[in-house]
Parts: sequence; structure tokens; C-alpha cells
Amino acid sequence: MRGLWLLLVLVAAAKAEKVFIGDQVIRVNAESEEHIQLLQALETQEEWEVDFWLDPVSTELPVDIRVPRSSLSAVTEYLSSYNIPYSVIINNLQDLLDEEKAEMQMSQMKERSTRSFNFGAYHRLETIYSWMDTLVAQHPNLVTKQEIGRSYENRPMYVLKFSTGGYKRPAIWIDTGIHSREWVSQATGVWTANKIATDFGTDASLTSLLNTMDIYMLLLANPDGYAYTHSNNRMWRKTRSKNSGSSCRGVDPNRNWDAGFGGPGASRNPCSDSYHGPSAHSEIEVKNVVNLIKNHGNFKSFISVHAYSQLLMYPYGYNCKDVSHQPELDSVGRAAVQKLSSLYGTRYKVGSICKIIYQASGGSIDWSYNLGIKYSYAFELRDTGRYGFILPANQIIPTASETWLALKHIMEYVHDHPY
Ligand SMILES: [Zn+2]
Repeated sequence: MRGLWLLLVLVAAAKAEKVFIGDQVIRVNAESEEHIQLLQALETQEEWEVDFWLDPVSTELPVDIRVPRSSLSAVTEYLSSYNIPYSVIINNLQDLLDEEKAEMQMSQMKERSTRSFNFGAYHRLETIYSWMDTLVAQHPNLVTKQEIGRSYENRPMYVLKFSTGGYKRPAIWIDTGIHSREWVSQATGVWTANKIATDFGTDASLTSLLNTMDIYMLLLANPDGYAYTHSNNRMWRKTRSKNSGSSCRGVDPNRNWDAGFGGPGASRNPCSDSYHGPSAHSEIEVKNVVNLIKNHGNFKSFISVHAYSQLLMYPYGYNCKDVSHQPELDSVGRAAVQKLSSLYGTRYKVGSICKIIYQASGGSIDWSYNLGIKYSYAFELRDTGRYGFILPANQIIPTASETWLALKHIMEYVHDHPY
């Protein structure tokens, strides 16, 4: 009897959600190349289990690190011993996560009693999937839901297709949530899908666009990771595939594309959050998108939405050479963020991935660009680090609303510049 009780406790413990009591997120301001190298050394060591929210790449950019409570003194001593300045931006991560969870539960109760969907709240995968059916039912002449394949853990992957007819019309691709912990990305995707459906027929430019082009949205590009952020570990970023020869799971699905695969800015260590995987397109979630895009063959724009840092980026990530359309991509990007800023004054930087964040290989928009999809962009949404991945739900609608202005600018430009 006692043995059974112990077993139940162990099973419960094994299923329990990871807690982050006393974990801090610190912001480090590297002042020299030596500091960068010391931070990179910190990132690759595994003993202290630090989780880099923003990687150390240059003295121009902040480095945000989640430090487990048990490693706080070791890490801060390490930084102090090399005179590397830092400040605490989140004092106790679990406090923020508790608030986030309480808000989700309150919102869920309200949604149940009012039978409505709250776009200003974070939702679980099942809720988003059933909301998609509602959207399709409300807009049957515009929106369809298509399964593009299954995830590693056999969850369906759905795209919402916005189309007024025609066969393989020129199309725009938007994916959100390829990194599962970047919750404002998926939430922005949901709001945006609803916006497209409701504005069609009243917004003249969107209506004109949809009269000749299609829009495809993949709201949960990493469904297993997303489910896992709700059930087990809010800070999970990767897929959930098993890695042979390692007890660490998952591949960074934005280092897994066939574009400079395995080069600088990706890790070969399966335990790393930027592990590129055993081969290009090894992740079924990536492969499903590759198959859809290639079989379709008429995508003109490919937009991937991440968080955080407030950036609008274009290729390349895998090297710092200018792509041949650099001037055009840059000017369209600048005009787009100007529109974005016009709503609440949120400031974005624009540039190639390699030049404004860091060299990163195997990224989705490098792949799409090399496939011939000229207008390939990646967003890093709000914020710049006050909350990082735990952006409060009351910022979802403002974030989505401002981002919509940028998205719309890019889509209109693509519509007006056929190629
Ligand atoms: Zn990301």
C-alpha cells in the first residue's frame, strides 16, 4: 500500500509542471568582445542550466539570461569576477507565470459564461483549434481549414486559407509560433486571422488583395512545443522529437531549414535550445510546411512571426552578405515599421537577420528566399525585454493591432508588385 502511494506520488511529480521559483532574468550589457566570449562560454556550459533569452552576439545588443535560483550566486559571481555589468529585469519568474496562469483561468471562465472568444487572452492548443472551426463557420465563403500533416506527437497541423477562388493564386504565407514559448506570436496570429476574415468586404485594399491573391496562415507552427509550454514547461522553445543518443529532446525548428544548414549560429548539441537537428528538414513540422510551399509553387511572400525584440528582418541569417533584393526589402520593411509605429509609437529596427541580430543558419526565411519567394520577412514582436516571453495578455491586442499595419503594408506592396 505504501509502495503504491509512493508510486502515485512519483507519477504525479513526473507529470508536474516545471516551476521557476526564484529564477531571475538578468540583462547583461557586454562592453567588449571579451565579454561576448565569456558570455558565450557561459551559454555552452551545462552545469548552471542558464537559459539565454537573447544570445550574446555583439556589444550593441542586450543579452537576457534566465538564471535558475540554484545558480544565481555562481552566475553573478562569474559576471562580477570579469566586471561584466548586469541588472535584474525579472526578480522571480514564477510570480509572472502565476499571474499569467491566473489571468488565463479568469478569461476561460468568462469565455465559458459569455460563449465568446477573448482575443486578448492566451489560449491552449485545443481552444485555438476549436476557435478555427468557429471562424470557418462564420466565414464559409472566405476561410477554409486544411490539415497539412501531423506533428511528431501526431497532432494535426492546420493552415487557415483565405481565398475567394481560383487555382493556386499568388499567395502570402504567415506562420506564428514556430518557437513555442513566444506566446504573443501565436496570439497575434489568432487576432490577425480574425481581422482578415472580418475586414474582408469592408476594407477596400484587403478586399482587392483577396480578389486576386490568397493568404495562408499557420497559427501553431510547433504544436507539440506549444502544448508542452502549457502542460509542462512554459519556457520550452523547440520541437518535442527524440534525439538518438541523447536524453535531451527537441530541435530548434528555426535552425532546421535547408539554408546554410548546420553553419554558424546553430548548435550541434541536442541539449541546446538552438540545436539544428540531425539533418535539414528532419523535423516533420518543418517538412510539412516545405511540402505545402513547394507543391503550391506560387507563394510571393513568406512571413514568419517571432518574439521578442521588436525587429523586422529579411534574409540572410546564415551569412552577412546583402541579398540581391536588399534595397527593396529594406525600404518595404522601413515603410512597414513606420506604419506599425504610427499606432502606439512602438519602435522597431529593420535589417537583415545577420546584421541586426546575429548569424543564424537554417532559418525559414532564408530557405523561402532561396526558393524564389522574394518578399521573405521575419518579425520579432514586443517587447524589448521588460517581460520578454511572458508578455502580459493585456498587450496582445495592442501588439497584434500595430503589427497588422506592418503586415498589411507588406501584403499591399506584394499585391502591387507582381513578379
Ligand atoms: Zn523565435
